[in-house]
Amino acid sequence: MKAIVCNQPDHFSYVDRPKPVADRGQAVVRIRRIGICGTDLHAFRGRQPYFNYPRILGHELAGEVVALGDGVTDLQIGDAVTVMPYLECGNCIACRNGKTNCCTSLQVIGVHRDGGMQEFISMPADHLLKAPGLSYDELALVECMAIGAHAVRRAGISPGEDVLVTGAGPIGCGIMQFARIAGARVITMDVNEQRLELARSWARVDATIKAGGEQSRQQVAELTAGNGAAVVFDATGSAQAMMQGFEYVAHGGRYLLVSIVDATISFYDPDFHRRETTLLSSRNATREDFLWVLKCLAEKQLDLAPLISHRCRFDRLIEEFSGWTSPDSGLVKGVVEI
Ligand SMILES: [Zn+2]
Ligand SMILES: [Zn+2]
Repeated sequence: MKAIVCNQPDHFSYVDRPKPVADRGQAVVRIRRIGICGTDLHAFRGRQPYFNYPRILGHELAGEVVALGDGVTDLQIGDAVTVMPYLECGNCIACRNGKTNCCTSLQVIGVHRDGGMQEFISMPADHLLKAPGLSYDELALVECMAIGAHAVRRAGISPGEDVLVTGAGPIGCGIMQFARIAGARVITMDVNEQRLELARSWARVDATIKAGGEQSRQQVAELTAGNGAAVVFDATGSAQAMMQGFEYVAHGGRYLLVSIVDATISFYDPDFHRRETTLLSSRNATREDFLWVLKCLAEKQLDLAPLISHRCRFDRLIEEFSGWTSPDSGLVKGVVEI
C-alpha cells in the first residue's frame, strides 16, 4: 500500500508499506479522508517540538472498516468511522481517573507514532467510532472539533455567561460553536479580519474584536458591561496573546489555555489574585467529547463544510502541501481524499 512519509522537515515522499493486519482487538481501516491542521503544518516545517522523523503524519482521520481482529464485536466490515488518535496506557493516574486525554505516556498517532497518511491503518477497535449518516468529510473533522468540545466542557459554562475566545482558527471556531451550544454569549478576538469573518458567519458569534494593544481590553470591557469575560479561551498559539488574555477575565472568572506554545507563560500575581482567576489548560479530548461532537453533527447543530478551505487527492498531496503551509494560503481546514 501507498504511504506518505515525512522524512525530515520540508520533505515528503511516497513509499510502499505492507498492508496492516488486524490483531486481536484491532480493526483495519481503509483511510478515506485526512484532515490537515496546524500540528501537521508545524511538523512538516520542523517547528513541532518533540517530533521525530521519519514519521507518517495524519491524526484527523475518517475511513471504512475493512478487517476485524478477534474479539471485536462493536464494529462491522463496511462501517464508516472516525478515529480517536490518542493511544492511552489505561493504567496511569490520569487514565485511572478517566483523563485518558492526558495519559502520562500518551501516544498520538501522526505525532508520536505513524498516523493516517497511508491507505490503511490498524487501530484498537475501541478507538474507532461509527456514526451512520455522517459523511467522511464530517468524520475527518470530529477530532479537531472534539478539542473545542473538551475545552468547553472543562470550562463548565452556564447559560448567559460572557465567553471570549481569542484566536479564530479551526480550534477557536470549534470552541465558539460549543460555547454557543452551551448557551454562552460569545465574543471573538483575532488579528486577522478574514478569521473574524469566519467566526461571524460560521460560528455565529455575538461580537468580534480586532486584536491590538490597549484598545482590545477596552472593547472587551465595553462588550461585557465593564466586567470582562466570565470565561476566556485562548486558541491563538501565541505566548504574548496568552499572557495578554489574563486581562480579559472577569473577577471570579476562568481562563482556559487551549493552544500550546514552547515558552514560559507569566502573569502579574496581584491582578490574578484580585480576580481570583481560575486557570486551566485543556489538552486533546476524551471519548465523551468525541461522542458529544457526533451527537451535535447528527442533530445538525454543526455544519463543518464551510471550514474546508482546501482539498486535494492523496496522490497530489506532496505537490500541494508546501503551498498549504504558506501563511497567505488562507488555509482554514485542508482535507485529503484517498
Ligand atoms: Zn489536528
Ligand atoms: Zn495512562
